[in-house]
Amino acid sequence: MPEPKLEKEFELTCCQVPRAALMISLLTRKLQVKIMTVYKDKMVADIMGVLTLSMAECEPGNRPKDIGHMPDLRIKLIIQGSDSAAAMVELIDFFARCSRQRILEKKGLEKEFILKWRLGLLAAKTICRIAKKFQARLKATIKIVYKDKTIIVGDCNEVAEINNTDSDPAYLLEELGLMPGSCIKLAIQGPNAEYAMEDLTEFLTSGPSLGRCPVAGCSSTLAPVCYLDEVIVYECERGHSWEIDRTRPVEKQKLQPSKFGIYGKPSFDKDFPNKA
Ligand SMILES: [Zn+2]
Repeated sequence: MPEPKLEKEFELTCCQVPRAALMISLLTRKLQVKIMTVYKDKMVADIMGVLTLSMAECEPGNRPKDIGHMPDLRIKLIIQGSDSAAAMVELIDFFARCSRQRILEKKGLEKEFILKWRLGLLAAKTICRIAKKFQARLKATIKIVYKDKTIIVGDCNEVAEINNTDSDPAYLLEELGLMPGSCIKLAIQGPNAEYAMEDLTEFLTSGPSLGRCPVAGCSSTLAPVCYLDEVIVYECERGHSWEIDRTRPVEKQKLQPSKFGIYGKPSFDKDFPNKA
């Protein structure tokens, strides 16, 4: 009796090819199957070969710099062996997940935030640092839009040029002079956009909702100045330092006097009325 043979066409992005290769290699180890890849009627040694072929197809002049910008691929998989039906079920499931992710990426993600605090240079640098992590490792493009200005905050090359303040997104962000109540839009595109959105949302929604220093008679605006694993530190324009505990749920986060002041010399001894 000949071995069962199944075939089906699938679509995926170039970025998803390595994961598909891993999936196929796991399946061929786990099940009694051989899985062959066909790309544009050509049999390819393995699915990674599709990347090389599709790259070669692009005109040398407009070849994308990285695979994140390559067009989607359509491949055919031929599954042969006694477990081919079981392998097909797993592959259909895998490519369905790829396709859901592709739709999400194409849409990108957008969210609006009303700032609770003044967006000063240190807060801008924190935003750029979080964004840079996602842009570099996960190929996400992260933009902050305010009125008619758009700043790509995750551009790692620009962040690296510390001396070139004209193109440093952190300085550009600070220049917007955003105060509590300003509405900004965060737009993220690319694989893993939702993770970048999650991290930046945590930062942008953190902290006191009034954005004013609680020291009696001070009430100048607060800005985040330090972002640590367990706390976010805020400072008012007169140098009073406050922090919230990130390990507590958002609704239980409360401003506490902080020792991590950056700009000013905290003067709680004198000013803070409820000091323990
Ligand atoms: Zn103050």
